[in-house]
Amino acid sequence: MHIAVIGTGIVGACSAAWLQRDGHQVTFIDPREAGEACSFGNAGSLSPSACLPVGMPGMWKRVPKWLLDPEGPLTIRPAHLPAVLPWLIRFLRASSREEVARIAAAMRGLLKPVFEAYEPLLQRAGATSLVRHTGCLYVYSSRGAANQWKWGMDLRRSLGVELRDIDSDELAEMEPDLKGRFRFGHYAPDNGSAADPSALVKAIYGQSLRDGATHLKQAVTDMDIAGGVVKALRLDDGSILDVDGVVIAAGAWSAGLAHRVGARVPLETQRGYHVTVASSNLQLSRTVMATEYNMMVNPMAMGLRLAGTVELAGLKAPPRYARAEALLKKGKELFPHLDTSKTSLWMGHRPCLPDSMPVIGRAPRVENAWLGFGHGHVGMCGGATTGREIANLVAGRAPEIDLSPFRPDRFS
Ligand SMILES: Cc1cc2nc3c(=O)[nH]c(=O)nc-3n(C[C@H](O)[C@H](O)[C@H](O)COP(=O)(O)OP(=O)(O)OC[C@H]3O[C@@H](n4cnc5c(N)ncnc54)[C@H](O)[C@@H]3O)c2cc1C
Repeated sequence: MHIAVIGTGIVGACSAAWLQRDGHQVTFIDPREAGEACSFGNAGSLSPSACLPVGMPGMWKRVPKWLLDPEGPLTIRPAHLPAVLPWLIRFLRASSREEVARIAAAMRGLLKPVFEAYEPLLQRAGATSLVRHTGCLYVYSSRGAANQWKWGMDLRRSLGVELRDIDSDELAEMEPDLKGRFRFGHYAPDNGSAADPSALVKAIYGQSLRDGATHLKQAVTDMDIAGGVVKALRLDDGSILDVDGVVIAAGAWSAGLAHRVGARVPLETQRGYHVTVASSNLQLSRTVMATEYNMMVNPMAMGLRLAGTVELAGLKAPPRYARAEALLKKGKELFPHLDTSKTSLWMGHRPCLPDSMPVIGRAPRVENAWLGFGHGHVGMCGGATTGREIANLVAGRAPEIDLSPFRPDRFS
């Protein structure tokens, strides 16, 4: 089939690569270069352990304090509050213990095969070095402080995530730069990370081009649909592209396109920030989740990346880089000797559904449209598995994971 893949982020790139393995002809459609939107500046963590939703039981109690702190992990721009309120209500409903347990089990299914789903794509692209299997450390100021996250950590363990308790001596031995500040940790040996998330997308996408895909640098504005079948896509330069099928992988911008094929989804963007310290003089050898700081630290090819924070402000508001500067301030607190003479700041739009799960599946009312978006905080980790499952659906093969929790019609 001739399949148009809308979006050249990690989900679009991996979907295309998996579809090409079945012999389909792919046309990417995206006004941007590959890997330049949310997939550009994330923390690069590839964490099969990251199966917990963002909304956790009792979290709402901490929200007022966070909102009052301009440097806190969550901010909501007042102008966006009316628009985001219904989404927030659904988000809170999804944070009960029962819901969190259900979501975590579903997400564990999606995230566990991360490395096996990337492997064939990276092998073909000659890019295996972009993915590192170095594990991840969740670190805390004390064993007592870690208790706050015990319920979630126990839930992870019950789903098969290996998490080893690490005392302060072992922590200092594993990562000397963490010495002093952190006195307890959980080590997740099965996690890994991307050395450069954008380069990872570009490597997979570049191989797709070499395998015959083309890229139209336009935005899709509409679809011609007749008899429950997408016949063609309309692009913003006025041109029309005939297709046999379409994959909607447009990240945080997917809601309008999904609606067109019958899926009404409450997609919101949780804007996140990073600061990358180019001249990092730290010797970290793996990703570190500074849990009490809500900040992920990843030593990458281009420097040390500190990433996190959630800002609810919609797709159009300009970035507020003070949020990224706050990450740098925390970074200096954690690593007083960090050389911050050369830094870059970034904001990206995480595509988020209120239950922290993506939408993966065939469109409810159109037989040749497939949806893959809404991966929130774990799109790098879930991207390759999503691509593999979309190829399975297109081919009519049985899915290799349980896709029912990710149904596109689950919000109707
Ligand atoms: C600060 C931060 C840290 C993060 N850390 C991690 C992490 O450690 N691990 C992890 O797994 N995930 C992480 N994430 C999440 C991850 O980055 C995202 O889930 C993932 O990049 C989403 O990929 P995507 O392909 O769906 O979307 P994107 O990468 O945003 O790509 C979507 C593409 O669709 C295109 N598009 C939009 N509309 C149209 C249209 N109408 N026509 C054509 N093209 C269109 C856009 O131009 C864009 O290129 C983080 C995110 C942030 C912000």
